[in-house]
Amino acid sequence: MSHSQSQHFDVAIIGAGAVGCAVARRFALGGAHVLLLERGSDILAGASKANSAILHTGFDAPPDSLELRCIQHGYAEYLSLRAERNLPLLETGALVVAWTDEEDARLDALVAQAHANGVANVRRIGRDTLREMEPNLAPTAKAALHVPGEHVIDPWSPFLAYALEANALGASVVLNAEVTGGAFDGRTWHLATTQGAFLAHTIVNCAGLFGDVVETALLGAASFDIRPRKGQFVVLDKAASRLLTSIILPVPTERTKGVLLARTVFGNVLVGPTAEEQADRERVAVSEPELRKLLDRAAELVPALRDVPVTAAYAGLRPATEAKHYRIHRVEGRNWITAGGVRSTGMTAALGIAHHVWGLYAGDAGPIQSAPVAMPNLAEHLPRDWQRPGHGEIVCQCEMVTRREIEAAMSGPLPAGDLGGLKRRTRCGMGRCQGFICAGRVAELTAGQFADPLVAR
Ligand SMILES: Cc1cc2nc3c(=O)[nH]c(=O)nc-3n(C[C@H](O)[C@H](O)[C@H](O)COP(=O)(O)OP(=O)(O)OC[C@H]3O[C@@H](n4cnc5c(N)ncnc54)[C@H](O)[C@@H]3O)c2cc1C
Repeated sequence: MSHSQSQHFDVAIIGAGAVGCAVARRFALGGAHVLLLERGSDILAGASKANSAILHTGFDAPPDSLELRCIQHGYAEYLSLRAERNLPLLETGALVVAWTDEEDARLDALVAQAHANGVANVRRIGRDTLREMEPNLAPTAKAALHVPGEHVIDPWSPFLAYALEANALGASVVLNAEVTGGAFDGRTWHLATTQGAFLAHTIVNCAGLFGDVVETALLGAASFDIRPRKGQFVVLDKAASRLLTSIILPVPTERTKGVLLARTVFGNVLVGPTAEEQADRERVAVSEPELRKLLDRAAELVPALRDVPVTAAYAGLRPATEAKHYRIHRVEGRNWITAGGVRSTGMTAALGIAHHVWGLYAGDAGPIQSAPVAMPNLAEHLPRDWQRPGHGEIVCQCEMVTRREIEAAMSGPLPAGDLGGLKRRTRCGMGRCQGFICAGRVAELTAGQFADPLVAR
């Protein structure tokens, strides 16, 4: 995307994760001249590249918290804007299943919390209703909470849509631009990045796993410490999606929402995530013992899953901090807003966080413009590109990705910057063979376009 370093931006947003993309859109809607800076070679290069893809209602969020407000705003705004942008919703509902008497005893408190949080349709159901809803669940399930509003979305397309919308309204998105330092002269921020210097009136720090590092580099000290928390997942083959309808959640603990089972919009079933503290902010390795535990847990919950093949395994890092709450605040006299510590609900809450951050910046001023961008559909339950004539070729046979989809993802104002970005935009290489068959063809189709080129086999 074009940009000029001599321009003076109203706002520079550091980090194009879920939060930064939503904030960029919100500021552009408000008429601000926006710069979105991302250290990765594509957007969604940090925490936002790997999550459970659940659109939360906030039924179990901390009562009266900013997190709850942002989740519920984000949820409602996603539902209101998704049709125009062609963003999918897999209407699954969720079941919080009690497997022990102790968990059963905690369900009533969870219902009370859900109702206090404004999620009025959450109700307790007994063993028989549970079996009718999910006949493949292990018979040892005792009872559950039904949360009809929890759903599953495509975890990447919405944020690309928000970045594209911001760009259509004049925002500059600069990739491979790590913010390394900066100085505030009382009116203007002078930012140093790996793509040169930029000027901006206000900074919004959306640097996720590096939010504290960015505060230290630019403000001299950090107001919080990032404590990365890894979550590993197993992706089960598409056959598994016939074995359940709802998202199957455990009764949550203070520390984690726990291991869930959920269908994905792409037709698979997800098992995970784990919750493992680690010091490294970038390394997201999976480990066989944890993956085996996840598979065992999946088979305990739905015994027929024991025989379903695994498609893939992956891990993500939550930008957790030393405290549970979001770290969103304005620093008076420094033209600075931090939107950090968005640990485990940021995909849902991003639009709500953006609304809140805009409020910190501009008060109550509402949107003054709009430029919705319709996204290509990748969801399995909706028509895909391969079903329309003229697609050229099926490049990825596992995920039925067409040449037309790959060419579209490699062009336009924000083309894929690396293989990860191309996968997130099209799903190529994300199916059962994990790119074994199509890698060579994808390398040919992307030749000369990635800074780090793929090698054709
Ligand atoms: C295992 C797991 C499961 C989850 N499940 C769900 C779920 O089901 N539903 C839900 O709503 N949420 C879920 N989440 C939470 C959600 O993914 C996060 O809250 C969200 O991704 C945080 O986004 P972010 O934009 O704050 O951070 P990030 O995505 O990390 O974005 C920060 C960006 O800043 C960039 N950056 C960092 N430093 C610099 C710099 N100096 N200069 C320029 N750029 C920089 C990074 O490269 C990165 O792209 C889950 C998270 C995990 C890890």
